[in-house]
Amino acid sequence: MSKDIPGLYGSLVFNDKVMRQKLPKDMYKALRKTIENGTHLELDVANSVAVAMKEWAVENGATHFTHWFQPMTGFTAEKHDSFISPTSAGEVLMEFSGKELVKGEPDASSFPSGGLRATFEARGYTAWDPTSPAFIKDGTLYIPTAFCSYSGEALDKKTPLLRSMEALNKSAVRMLHLLGNTSVTSVSTTVGPEQEYFLVDKELYNQRRDLIFCGRTLIGAPAPKGQEMEDHYFGSLKPRVAAYMHDLDEELWKLGIPAKTKHNEVAPAQHELAPIFDTTNIAVDHNQLTMEVMKQVANKHGLVCLLHEKPFEGINGSGKHNNWSMSTNTGVNLLDPGKTPAENIQFLVFLMAVIKAVDDYADMMRVSAAGAGNDHRLGGNEAPPAIVSIFLGDELTAILHSIEGDSYFDGKEGMILETGASVLPHFMKDTTDRNRTSPFAFTGNKFEFRMLGSSASVATPNITLNTAVAEALDQFYEELKDYAPEDIEKGVHDLIKRAIKKHKKVIFNGNGYSPEWVEEAKRRGLPNLASTPEALKAFIADKNVDLFIKHHIFTKEELFSRYEILLENYVKTIGIEVKTMKEMLTKDFLPSVMAYSDEIVQSALAKKELLPSISTKTEEALVCKLSDAYTSITEGLEKLDAAAAAADAKTDMYDCAMAYHDSVLAEMDELRQTADAIETKIPDEVLPYPTYDQLLFSVV
Ligand code: ADP
Ligand code: MG
Repeated sequence: MSKDIPGLYGSLVFNDKVMRQKLPKDMYKALRKTIENGTHLELDVANSVAVAMKEWAVENGATHFTHWFQPMTGFTAEKHDSFISPTSAGEVLMEFSGKELVKGEPDASSFPSGGLRATFEARGYTAWDPTSPAFIKDGTLYIPTAFCSYSGEALDKKTPLLRSMEALNKSAVRMLHLLGNTSVTSVSTTVGPEQEYFLVDKELYNQRRDLIFCGRTLIGAPAPKGQEMEDHYFGSLKPRVAAYMHDLDEELWKLGIPAKTKHNEVAPAQHELAPIFDTTNIAVDHNQLTMEVMKQVANKHGLVCLLHEKPFEGINGSGKHNNWSMSTNTGVNLLDPGKTPAENIQFLVFLMAVIKAVDDYADMMRVSAAGAGNDHRLGGNEAPPAIVSIFLGDELTAILHSIEGDSYFDGKEGMILETGASVLPHFMKDTTDRNRTSPFAFTGNKFEFRMLGSSASVATPNITLNTAVAEALDQFYEELKDYAPEDIEKGVHDLIKRAIKKHKKVIFNGNGYSPEWVEEAKRRGLPNLASTPEALKAFIADKNVDLFIKHHIFTKEELFSRYEILLENYVKTIGIEVKTMKEMLTKDFLPSVMAYSDEIVQSALAKKELLPSISTKTEEALVCKLSDAYTSITEGLEKLDAAAAAADAKTDMYDCAMAYHDSVLAEMDELRQTADAIETKIPDEVLPYPTYDQLLFSVV
């Protein structure tokens, strides 16, 4: 049976087509103007949109609406209100007003605010973001909104993201006009996030406290087979997985999310989904929604979708690749080398701006990927190290070096050298080679930021990237603005020459996973912020505070509050892991060690009774091992308690986070090693939870 995919696609979205059908012409025009130019929306337009939205939503089975927002929890939040409005005749009408559409007042006092709101003024409000379309999910009309405090401080991830897109828009348009490209009136950033995830069987999942409470295994010996055969990557899909992916695609398509690519990833039970890229703001909302739908659909299939960055030891964890570029309203990708010398000049300026931005704010890029979960991944052998560097490929690097050294680029394969009057080399779009080990790689016409963890919001790195690139473009503008139009090419040449000299230290085309690179990066003076607490310090470094204030992305208070929230989140995450580990070892694991030991003692005694001369050396040795492990785990648990208590006793949040990092995690590691070693001696039926073998290989 063939399905009408075009008919299905976006069927639950209040998209342009529906707007055009449902709205009076003048109202539709006014709304489009707001969406495209960010102009203020009059109340009569809002009322008209609200009526149309409600009508459409009710026709499609919705009974409720919700302002959907992204507080600092890392998740999305929603509070549902029904459309019903009682009449004096004892009936109900389905109603929805412009005021309800535009502004919501959730009693949101319990969301993290990092001290931004005192409890007596705890209310925040949500404001409709008309640039991201409303949609229907589970019988509710979802309205994407920004979440602010009453005094206007951002309490979410959307507000600063929208601010950063606006900052980049302003700076990019000004630069394009200076370069003579005056037809462009707006520039938006585009994002395509590749999402990795694991699927495990729900029944098995439900038997493990660590997966339930922490989303990752805290103990567990490796399975005999991991990813060493490299047979899972792009391998054929198992029927249960294929059925899941099929349903997932359909659910996403209904929501207008352009899911495009799906495949098995490197680790067993690991998979990836990539959509077609979109405007950043929409891509971010879609990625949040994708993560939710992934979990929901898994549940229907008797599976659980794990989005944690490191669910299993010894095999790859999951990341999220943030593909990013800038695109003009005239349809030009500014990171596409282009075909004419003029396009090439434009390309070089924007490319150089990104290089400068990432070099100047490498620490902030690292912060944007920081979190307790991702710490288990960064610097492992499957993810880039905590050092931010840029892969450009040999050709582009050679072009920039030739500008730096005043030598003409002599053209390699696929390159055309523009000789003669032109100062800048003319080259064609090359087939950029791939370097999978780079945290920030140029991939032909976009950059791919690969540090991000699988559970992270894509908003965070894009807030930094957009703002840092806006700043770089502004600085370049100052250097170029006094050139006459006929000299601008020379101006760009000199500018690139100065800039590449200063920023080439961030370019690295070699193997980012090698220990030599860590040494080399140190020599180059690049920051290596290994852990989340260390990275978070950069959040409040003067230069970063100045950047965000200057571009009106964050106020100083907003930044400091976020710093507090992120540190707190780190501490709480590990705190939950500590409690879960204790519970799991005490209530599940140790009793099974004891039970198994008793079983062996009983069988040895029975043997002796039957044959008094027989040796029970093997049993004795095993009982000793089990007993030693029991003792060492019991002692380890006491040490873990002490380490956590000492960390909690720190009054400063940073010191507390550092103590969790340095001593609590170390105690957890040691406990894990003991437990994993003895787990291999205990038969599966005695273990109170499924092992790695079962978790990783049972979905067929
Ligand atoms: P891979 O990186 O695995 O080779 P692709 O190059 O096809 O895969 O793209 C990966 C992701 O990058 C996709 O989500 C794609 O939509 C996105 N992408 C492609 N072009 C752009 C762009 N100009 N801006 C942002 N994302 C883009
Ligand atoms: Mg990719």
